Amino acid sequence: MGNSSVNAFPLLLLAGSSETDLVSRGAFQELDAISLLTPHTKHALRPPSLESIPSVMQNTYRTSLYGRPGTGFVDLPADIIKGVVESEEDMTDSQPVPDAPKTGVDDARLFKIAQIIKAAKAPLVVIGKGAAYARAENMIRELIDKTHLPFLPTPMGKGVVSDSHPANAASARSTALKEADVVLVLGARLNWILHFGEAPKWNTHAQFIQVDISAEEIGKNAGNAHLGLVGDVTAVVPQLVKALGTWSYSVASSPYLEHLAAAKSKNESTAASKASDAKIPLTYAHAFSIIERTLRRLSPPDEGGIVYISEGANTMDISRSIFPVSHPRLRLDAGTYATMGVGLGYAIAAHVAYNGSAGEGRSGPTGRKKIVAIEGDSAFGFSAMEVETMARYGMDVLIFVMNNGGVYYGDSDDAEEWLRLQKATKEGSQRGLRSTSLGWEVGYEKMAEACGGAGFLVRTPVELEKATERGFREGRVTVVNVIIEAGKGGKLEFGWQASGGKGKKAKL
Ligand code: ADP
Ligand code: MG
Repeated sequence: MGNSSVNAFPLLLLAGSSETDLVSRGAFQELDAISLLTPHTKHALRPPSLESIPSVMQNTYRTSLYGRPGTGFVDLPADIIKGVVESEEDMTDSQPVPDAPKTGVDDARLFKIAQIIKAAKAPLVVIGKGAAYARAENMIRELIDKTHLPFLPTPMGKGVVSDSHPANAASARSTALKEADVVLVLGARLNWILHFGEAPKWNTHAQFIQVDISAEEIGKNAGNAHLGLVGDVTAVVPQLVKALGTWSYSVASSPYLEHLAAAKSKNESTAASKASDAKIPLTYAHAFSIIERTLRRLSPPDEGGIVYISEGANTMDISRSIFPVSHPRLRLDAGTYATMGVGLGYAIAAHVAYNGSAGEGRSGPTGRKKIVAIEGDSAFGFSAMEVETMARYGMDVLIFVMNNGGVYYGDSDDAEEWLRLQKATKEGSQRGLRSTSLGWEVGYEKMAEACGGAGFLVRTPVELEKATERGFREGRVTVVNVIIEAGKGGKLEFGWQASGGKGKKAKL
């Protein structure tokens, strides 16, 4: 099995390859894809014969779905693709793959864990994307509602319990991490996104109770093998609810809750003042707050009518707390590897998943949703041509490109200054544009127009509000190119520079 299964999404990947009997001769695109992909997948194989395809597919599909989800890869050489079965009787069988059997935990351990939670002075529940993926929202809502335990969603765990829930500690995240003494982790890895569960971000004495379908995850980093609960979160959480009985976290006199409340109100007022910063070019926070307010009016969060895709370092960091979600599986971001380039692919996938394939006007199982992608300009560039795909399929995705003219930051808010810097660069000066700079006010909105979609270039709050509303109602792909401040002089720090973690800022 691959080392980490990265995002732990269930995925079945099929790919063609050159003829088996040309291997080692230098065939067209000859590549040993199995060796290449084995470390990154749960299961990578090539069917040994045409007849084995049904059983190979079934097993690969099941492997990608059961246990911790991940990728199953099937390599299909040309001779197999073009092959003809001589007799149907030689074909292996395939059966529908049932849902994975669910495992819970034994009563003795459950009792012990319930005691630890009840004895906690400063408990915290972390809700990860494993919980969202498992569709555990109803039981986790019951757990939180019955126990009043403060909770913190991970970026893709948002909405399992509504962001608007009073027990949501997200706007007091640092305080919660520093003070929590017992942490119940529901379907999230103690990886860099959660600062490995370690000090200084976390309380050195915090006890982590990991609930995970993958036994290998238990005890990792700050995890504790003696406290782990291996099982499906949809089986373990109801067990835990039962074991906790009528107990709830005493809210009468908890300094921890007071600190959380104080941090929450301080952070929320700082955020509110940032959001009303009236500068032009717009700031991230102000621009996001205008977009959020407008979208909230058109589609209230409780209705769950919007799927948010977020991509780009600053864009993800700053937007995460501004766009609330009330339902699970409505927010996708760069995820475990923080990989840029996934945003528009996610948007297409979300559109297909929720709205069916375009053109048919068919509605997905949970009703039609507007797909809104909030992209940094650099992040957008990684897969911008997917706008053409969206236009071709008639996908009405609404894309905001937060245009600060750079990777992380641009170099100037002033056209003439920018041209001077560009000239200096051309002349070989060290004092020109940084290599992380992007072009001056690149016309990203024109890409949508060129492909048959709609485009808006906006600089002011009024323009942004109008474009957001029009883009929301637009029946085709729309790019809103939002000119924001360059943030020149901003420190460049990439995610990997913070790896190892200690004391440095994690990006998610
Ligand atoms: P996040 O990005 O929210 O931190 P991660 O991808 O790091 O989430 O972790 C998700 C975790 O959820 C993985 O360790 C995975 O094994 C676990 N998981 C996935 N499905 C289930 C499930 N049905 N029950 C319990 N744990 C699950
Ligand atoms: Mg940028």
